[in-house]
Amino acid sequence: MTWIDDPEFAADRPFGPQTLPYGVVTGPGVGDRPVLAVRVGDHALPLRPLAGELGERLADLVSADSLNPLLAAGRPAWDELRERLVALVTADTAPRGAHLLPLTGESAVQPVLPFTVADYVDFYSSRHHAENVGRIFRPDSAPLLPNWTHLPVGYHGRAGTVVVSGTDVVRPSGQSRPAGADAPVFGPSRRLDIEAEVGFVCGGPVRSRVTTSEVADHVFGVALVNDWSARDIQAWEYQPLGPFLGKSFLTSIGAWITPLAALSAARVPTPGFDHELLPYLVEEEPWGLDLKLAVEWNGTVVAHPPFAAMSWSCAQQLAHMTINGATVRPGDLFASGTVSGPEKEQRGCFLELTWGGREPVTLADGSERTFLEDGDTVTITATAPGPDGSVVGFAEVTGTVRPAEPYEARG
Ligand code: MN
Repeated sequence: MTWIDDPEFAADRPFGPQTLPYGVVTGPGVGDRPVLAVRVGDHALPLRPLAGELGERLADLVSADSLNPLLAAGRPAWDELRERLVALVTADTAPRGAHLLPLTGESAVQPVLPFTVADYVDFYSSRHHAENVGRIFRPDSAPLLPNWTHLPVGYHGRAGTVVVSGTDVVRPSGQSRPAGADAPVFGPSRRLDIEAEVGFVCGGPVRSRVTTSEVADHVFGVALVNDWSARDIQAWEYQPLGPFLGKSFLTSIGAWITPLAALSAARVPTPGFDHELLPYLVEEEPWGLDLKLAVEWNGTVVAHPPFAAMSWSCAQQLAHMTINGATVRPGDLFASGTVSGPEKEQRGCFLELTWGGREPVTLADGSERTFLEDGDTVTITATAPGPDGSVVGFAEVTGTVRPAEPYEARG
């Protein structure tokens, strides 16, 4: 028994002492500045009041208003803080300054975006997703383009519209070209979709050419991502330069960042390739992560995407995105790309799940869906194996679709 009286903090629950994800909360009991916290079961444990227990260096890092100073501090500080916090939360008696704030109920605190997103990159690392999208968007050519098995394909996204879980999703408007039409039209997207992804939150020293063996020095932790996507806008705009307005209107991220250090038992070999990779992409022991995702559409679970099926690892992604001299810096976020497995019920976006809108899914209330309707809510959750048979949790990423804002032409 520890001093924390929350049944959800047991070691067999996803947010037990083996997980301790980091977030930032505001609201009742917090005071006038947001506070760093770790999640313990269904509570937040604010860290600023514990600063006196942590030593001068860590005290400064946990007293900030966001995770950014901690992200910049690097791996030695991350490991030291985690070790101290595990000891504090598993102690028999409460440390001086400790108080728990509820994450549910009337007096719940509110998680906010826990760090300022610096640069945002989105990859395309599921072979199953890439093949399915290729078949849907380019039915007359090979599903995988020739580069796909030689490099982790990605694009630079829009950091300024990364938002915390729970933020509403206003349906975007834009250009699209209806099937068979000669000219594009403008209006609210009619093919609004999700992409269930896993995001990696970066920190440590600013560096380029990070090798695959150095990834743990630059990846602080992991959060679920929903890369909301307007497929009709995307299909018209994406050639030749890739995704643009079909993606940049909003990207949601879970409120709590699960430390990479909590995922040592979740490492699994990646599926690999049937040819040699260029040396900078080679890992001595390639490892992915055995996250099991679930996608809920208005409360009905419609997919179970397996992250272990991803072809490119986070180490290969980070090595690739910095090999040209581009730097990684604290607050950078890179996401995996849609997580899809080989089976239909493992597809992590509705474009694939409904095969371009041709095969609707039926929700628990009997209604049918192809793409998102106004008022729909999508929630992505995940767990991973933890040490000694425990389960490591990831904060859900959820959002509700709101109607498009009216647009009036103005010059
Ligand atoms: Mn994506």
